[in-house]
Amino acid sequence: MTEGRIYNFSAGPSMLPEPVLCKIRDEMLNCGNSGMSVLEMSHRSKVYDGIINAAVENVKEVLGVPDNYRVLFLHGGASGMFAAVPMNIGTGSGIADYVVSGNFSGAAQKEAKKYLKEARIAGTSEADNFTYIPKQADLNLSADADYVHVCWNNTIFGTKYSYIPETGNVPLVADMSSSIMSEPVDVSKFGIIYAGVQKNLAPAGLALMIIREDLLEREAMKITPKIWNFKTEAEKNSMLNTPATFPIYVVKLVTDYLKEQGGLAAMKARNEEKAALLYDDLDSQDFYKSGVNKEDRSMMNVVFRTGSDELDKEFVAGQAAKGFSNLKGHRLVGGMRASIYNAMPKEGVEALIDYMKEFAASHQ
Ligand SMILES: *Cc1c(COP(=O)(O)O)cnc(C)c1O
Repeated sequence: MTEGRIYNFSAGPSMLPEPVLCKIRDEMLNCGNSGMSVLEMSHRSKVYDGIINAAVENVKEVLGVPDNYRVLFLHGGASGMFAAVPMNIGTGSGIADYVVSGNFSGAAQKEAKKYLKEARIAGTSEADNFTYIPKQADLNLSADADYVHVCWNNTIFGTKYSYIPETGNVPLVADMSSSIMSEPVDVSKFGIIYAGVQKNLAPAGLALMIIREDLLEREAMKITPKIWNFKTEAEKNSMLNTPATFPIYVVKLVTDYLKEQGGLAAMKARNEEKAALLYDDLDSQDFYKSGVNKEDRSMMNVVFRTGSDELDKEFVAGQAAKGFSNLKGHRLVGGMRASIYNAMPKEGVEALIDYMKEFAASHQ
């Protein structure tokens, strides 16, 4: 890493690959020979058209999106989609099933309740403080639901699905904000995949959505804001109004980078290696605990604690001197959280483990 930069373990916005940041810098004064930066450019210009189309094509290529899906860029981040999804596709029976496996899936269910006849909780691990992902057998799915909603990776609680829920003919909708492009996924198993881009792809404010074409034919609620009507946005190539031009540009650069790096198979191998280093270390000693069910462990957000609030505080306070930041756990969980997205180098994880060992040795 470049001198002066630190290992930033933030859950989001989070680290971006350094070569991408350098490319942004290099193109800042003159992007694509336009004589202007991407920040100053009309979204209707030829250069920008090339950028957004390349971003869409890259997402399709990198994620292996089948032909009967569309890639959209929408305003409002992931939380915007908590409202936009029920408004657009919750219009058959007006009933949807939500699996609540953490904070964001709970927030999605609460938002959906405003618009649907019923946003059912079809499964939850809340009674165990979200330390595991509900199993297929624990799900109480309704045959008449318009869709089933899950949160793929629980950013705050540090868990992730290890199976794809079987939902029959009911489309599966997944919030993949904190795991998007960290490993390959079988897109064909989902009706919608959406993500706030600020964890693994770009700066904040934008939602990436991958939607099966038949779902665009469902009639949206009359109250749906025009800018969140999925069908209209698909027809307008996500440019009904001015899109979030800069985040979309960064999605293009990050996906260019992912292609160069060997795509999602390569990212998965790297991410598995980083996560294994950290979890193996957590498992091999008694000083730190990872309170999460082993088979449901997140590869992106690693939650751990010492067992003493005082020691946790001291651990977090010591991070700056080591060249780390954002290791404090979310207030709902306490302890520590290391978010190790695609852009976190293995060296950052190794340096963290060294610090954990040193801290444990001096506080046993
Ligand atoms: C960060 C996050 C969100 C919230 O994203 P916003 O873009 O801030 O609305 C939602 N879901 C998950 C899984 C997240 O990690």
